[in-house]
Amino acid sequence: MAKKFRVFATCNIGDAALNLLRQRGYDLEVYPQPTAPPKSLIIEKVKSGIDGLITTLRDAIDAEIFEAGKGTLKAVAQDAVGFDNINRGDANRYKVPFSHTADVLTEATAEFAFFMLGTLARKMWPAEHLTRDNQWDYWHPFLPFLGDEVTGKTVAVIGTGRIGLAFIKKCSGFDMNILCYDPAYENHAFVKTIQEINELRHARGLTREKNWIKYVPFEQALREADFVSIHVPLIRPGESSTPTHHLFNEQTLRLMKPTAYVVNTSRGPVVDPNALVRALRENWIAGAALDVYEKEPLPADSPLRDPAIADRCRLMPHFASAANTTRLSTDPDKGMAGRCVQGLIDMLEGNYNGDISKMPYVVNKEGFAK
Ligand code: NAD
Repeated sequence: MAKKFRVFATCNIGDAALNLLRQRGYDLEVYPQPTAPPKSLIIEKVKSGIDGLITTLRDAIDAEIFEAGKGTLKAVAQDAVGFDNINRGDANRYKVPFSHTADVLTEATAEFAFFMLGTLARKMWPAEHLTRDNQWDYWHPFLPFLGDEVTGKTVAVIGTGRIGLAFIKKCSGFDMNILCYDPAYENHAFVKTIQEINELRHARGLTREKNWIKYVPFEQALREADFVSIHVPLIRPGESSTPTHHLFNEQTLRLMKPTAYVVNTSRGPVVDPNALVRALRENWIAGAALDVYEKEPLPADSPLRDPAIADRCRLMPHFASAANTTRLSTDPDKGMAGRCVQGLIDMLEGNYNGDISKMPYVVNKEGFAK
């Protein structure tokens, strides 16, 4: 039996995974509401001397929290891959490691981004409304509207990390040409593999045209793509030389073709919503599909809800990783809940000989390098 650790979870991340902690003798308190707890409550819990905190992307974890847990808070386990809600500098200053759930949500997020792209381009939402609203009065070659094919088109993938590369695999299966952009990480081995597959599929007669894939500068990717899919972390100005905050703004959206579509499953603030609404209203681009927003949940008065652009603007409720196995599996190689709990166990129980820099799910390893 492990030492009795006290843990506060700001959210029920899945009973089966949380029970793994209870079975190890952890004293676990779970915030009972589906909404996020107020920050004051998290501070109160941390102040009461808990050893570990389980968080979601809704919780702002910064110096205020770490100060409240000075000398007692040993670990933060985030149930998400993105960690822009956790101040990494503050965590390092207070010497608190935090983990995330990379990899296990990669395919689920990538496939959802692809489905959003297809739903948007083929106008599935207005088409279903037509049927449901009993407005489907005849079959006609082009009335009342047509969608755009995905097959054979060119997609720009902005950010070729884990999810960006998985997304490329899905697009490759749809005979798409791929423009890649990433200022920090160009995976040429991966690109070569996709190119080899493209050549094989063409040589064996599976595709009529030989598809291609290449890295290009950002502006070129935007100018030449029929679809743009965003897979970057949220990086605020000052946090890196290539921030992603409002990477999509009036200037960059205007580079896109008027027939092109943009899909965002990364983080809301990567796209300036006012610029996007303008781009849709004034037809600078053909459409947008969003899973994430600057303000979540999406406010009732958001201009993104404008009925005038509804047919060309799909709005999802931060749902890209929301699939059963991905969210709830207790297996740390399959589910976010399992990986989150295992990350916490590693940090609190001192696995890997207590060397935090060797723990696979810890993010801020640099704070603990020996
Ligand atoms: P990752 O770190 O593996 O990949 C991100 C890539 O973006 C990296 O290769 C990085 O070099 C690149 N990048 C950084 N700055 C860039 C810039 N200015 N322009 C272009 N590329 C840039 O992360 P991942 O696992 O692929 O996840 C990406 C993000 O997706 C997460 O940080 C998270 O915010 C988001 N996400 C959202 C959902 C959802 O439910 N909608 C689910 C999972 C992840």
